[in-house]
Parts: sequence; C-alpha cells; structure tokens
Amino acid sequence: MIRKLFAMIAAAGLLAAACGAPAVPMAGGVLQVVATHSILGDLVKNVGGDRIALLVLVGAGGDAHTFEPTPQDIAQIAKAGLMFENGLEFEGWLDDAFAAADSKALRVEVSAGIEPLAAAEEGEAHAGAAADDHAAEGDHHHGEVDPHIWHSVSNWILAAKNVRNALVKADPANTSAYEANAAAYIAELEKLDVEIFAQANALPAARRVLFTSHDALGYFAARYGFAVAGTALASFSTEASDPSAAQVADLVQAIKAAGVPAVFTENTHNSQLMDQIALEAGISFAPELYTDALGEPGSAGETYLKLMRSNIAVIAGALGK
Ligand SMILES: [Zn+2]
Repeated sequence: MIRKLFAMIAAAGLLAAACGAPAVPMAGGVLQVVATHSILGDLVKNVGGDRIALLVLVGAGGDAHTFEPTPQDIAQIAKAGLMFENGLEFEGWLDDAFAAADSKALRVEVSAGIEPLAAAEEGEAHAGAAADDHAAEGDHHHGEVDPHIWHSVSNWILAAKNVRNALVKADPANTSAYEANAAAYIAELEKLDVEIFAQANALPAARRVLFTSHDALGYFAARYGFAVAGTALASFSTEASDPSAAQVADLVQAIKAAGVPAVFTENTHNSQLMDQIALEAGISFAPELYTDALGEPGSAGETYLKLMRSNIAVIAGALGK
C-alpha cells in the first residue's frame, strides 16, 4: 500500500515535471508569495528578486507579535502560492488567518533547522527580583522559545537557504535565478557577520551587557558575545503588559547593581517606559534598535543589512562610552 502510494506520488511528480508545471498555484505565470513580516520580506525579496510577486503582511515599523490581519490581508493570503513565516510562535495570528482565507498556499517556516533558544530558568534572564515579580504575574511563560532568529546573521544565512530551497521547489523553472540571487545575498550576509564580530570584539567584555524592552536580542547576544542583563517586559513578546511601578523600581535597582551602561529602546515598542527606566537608573538612554521590524524607507533600518549595521553601531556607541 505504502509502496503503491510512493509510486503514485513519483508518477505525479514526473507528470508535473514533464508538463513544466509549477508545484504551487501561480497567477499570470508568476509565483504569488506572502511573507509575514518586514524583515523576512526583505530576505524573500533578495532571494526571489523579480521572479516573484511578494506581499508582506506586517510592514515596516509594525509589530508582528500583536498584528491583527485585515480582510484585505486575508484576501491576499487566499491568493498566495507560497507563504513564508518565521515559526517559533512569532506569528500567533497566522493559523487563524490561514484558515479564514481557506488558503492552499504551501507554508514554509524559515526557522527550520535553527536550534531555538529557550526561556532561561527563572531569574536567570531577567534582572534580579523584578524577574520573580513578573513570573508570579504570569508574564513570563516557561517553555517558550525565542522567535527572534534574525539577530544572529548565521541564523539568517540558514533562513536564506530555506527560502531559496522553497522557491526552487515551488517554481523550478526559475531555479538558476533563485540560486544566483541566494548566493549573492549570502555573500553579503557573511560580510555583515564578520563586521558585527569586529565591532562587538572591540568592546571590553564587561561592557557587553544588553537591556531592552522585550527579550528580542538573545540570538544576537549568544552569537556576538553579549549578556542579556534583563528586559523591561520580561517576555519574548511585546504582548506582555508593562511592569508596575514597584517592578520598575526593582528593575532600576537591578540595573544599578549589575552596572548596565545603557538601556536600549526598540522601534516596535513604546520608548516612554525605557526612557523612565534610564532616567531613574541614571544611565544613558540609547538610540533606537531595530528589533522586530524594518525601519521606514529612507531610515537607517530600511533593509536587513542596514538594520543590523545600525544596531551594532548603536550598541557599540552606547556601551563603548
Ligand atoms: Zn519580538
């Protein structure tokens, strides 16, 4: 029975290849692709180039954690042949949107093959007593994994290969274009990785300490040799509620005790809270990091390559003082 099934699948594959038929639905001969968020969209654009029609759901500056798809988004998902998503529970709204669209798209998780970082043990990833308070309130769910894979360039090289492989499989007629685009972009990513290491390594080890709004830089810290001293929201998601006044006071104490040189705000989360924490701790409030989304066109974060260069420059500038 199983052998017969394999034979049928093989025969269907041969038939498709013989007809030159694409593996997924197309419109006007062009592969219709959806990417869930702007940073991923930039990757897909670089690998797909002019051979695909690409729609990005959560645009520049948008927060994919808290996104709510519109009826227009659902209509676009319905037309897609291929859907690129991060996975690791980054897009909590996607399953419902996919079902609402009754989509036939092939779903591809670009995080496939990347070893996910898990939530640290209680109190480990967050600053002292504040972490315990947050855990008690249920803001910090143990067993969660960190979805922010793109902050390690080595992860993003793997993601680029996943995107390339999926495009080739879905649209074999354009294999050579996808392979050439991916090779050129991966070369850019390799250069970027070396640059970030050089700037990170120029900082004294004791100053390589990060404190951000939400827990978005774990992969960055792990790859480039930083410690995450804590986060204001004590969560992998911006869905967590802001800390109470008492929790902020605890965070400030912990920041002072740990000698954190600066706190960083993020482009997808309100900066007032971080401004207040920096002020109360008497430390510098660093310029914005691009954590979960590209910046607007024309900004320092308008592409992934620029975003990562901007982030390491901001980090090196704030911690190197
Ligand atoms: Zn996030």
